[in-house]
Amino acid sequence: MFVKNCSVIALSVAVLYPSAIYAQEPPASARVIEFPDIPGYLTLVCDFHVHTVFSDGSVWPDIRVQEALRDGIDAIAVTEHLEYLPHQNDIPHPDRDRAHAIAVESVGDRDLIVLNGSEITRDMPPGHANAIFLEDANLLLLDDPLEVFREAKRQGGFTFWNHPHWTSQRADGVATITEEHLQLIAEGLLQGIEVVNDLTYSDEALQIALDHDLTIMANSDIHGLVDWRYDVPHGGHRPVTLVFATERSAAGIKEGLEQGRTAAWFNNVLVGREEYVRPLVAASLNVKQATYQEETLVLSVMIENMSDVEYILDNRSGFTFHAASDVVTLKPHGTTRLEVKTLERLPSVSLAFEVLNAVTAPNTHPEIVVEIMPAGQ
Ligand code: ZN
Repeated sequence: MFVKNCSVIALSVAVLYPSAIYAQEPPASARVIEFPDIPGYLTLVCDFHVHTVFSDGSVWPDIRVQEALRDGIDAIAVTEHLEYLPHQNDIPHPDRDRAHAIAVESVGDRDLIVLNGSEITRDMPPGHANAIFLEDANLLLLDDPLEVFREAKRQGGFTFWNHPHWTSQRADGVATITEEHLQLIAEGLLQGIEVVNDLTYSDEALQIALDHDLTIMANSDIHGLVDWRYDVPHGGHRPVTLVFATERSAAGIKEGLEQGRTAAWFNNVLVGREEYVRPLVAASLNVKQATYQEETLVLSVMIENMSDVEYILDNRSGFTFHAASDVVTLKPHGTTRLEVKTLERLPSVSLAFEVLNAVTAPNTHPEIVVEIMPAGQ
């Protein structure tokens, strides 16, 4: 009798739950990757390098879509290997655009841009590269790698160098440009470079981007599950390329990439050209309140941080703090109080900081200035 009751309960649970399990919209949550817009541009969160079972990934394309929706991502590019298909015998698929088509179908009316891409998978040089914004990936199945890059360009593609620091192709992990890459760049066939791929970062790749005017990128190159790879349940996040775009569309993203308007966001570090990283940091911060503590010359400043970055700031203002050393952290999506000893009651105070977890060139961190107008002064 007891067993029978249990089965009845189990049945009713099964009837009640499917709508919750298969809910179309993921709940808003802390995992959503959030950055403010910067003056003149929208900040779009993008991952231009993901895999599925259609090459060497472990999931069906709709899982990539669901992960991206949960992460609040604006755009992903599905980039299966052209030359490496280990699941081909189990999942034969003659059409190289199929993974992208399935992903697009699974988006339905939800808000995610899914770009068609391919990973050109060659020995170094030129190594691996992703061509995105493709019309027909099947036409990239050519022997000569140079012709593959040219075909991508003919289709209006944007092509970038993947993980130039990958230790499987360079044991020292040092990204190094070759004659072949210089030729691709000279022909306009190589336009960007991953300074971050998966769990890895390369100062040398950043220097190559700056020296050769390549777009700075960070992508997950995810093969398994984003949640497991980046420990999302404990606050981790996948690496993403932030694109500063004039409109939220594939065309807007492409224009932003072609103009090099990006920043890489990786493991609580922002990487990019100073002209984009500085405004992004500035747009993240807002002085909510600034008042002198009663009967003192100590200024209490409440600084709100509207980004996902836990900013690590090194004080360069000349003032010292009453409740912190020279290094302070600003909590993401929170407000931090700073107590500044200004020695006299000032009508305005400029606080200069070096942003230690932002990188604009190897060993170079941007400086920002927070302008403060104390109340009642
Ligand atoms: Zn890849």
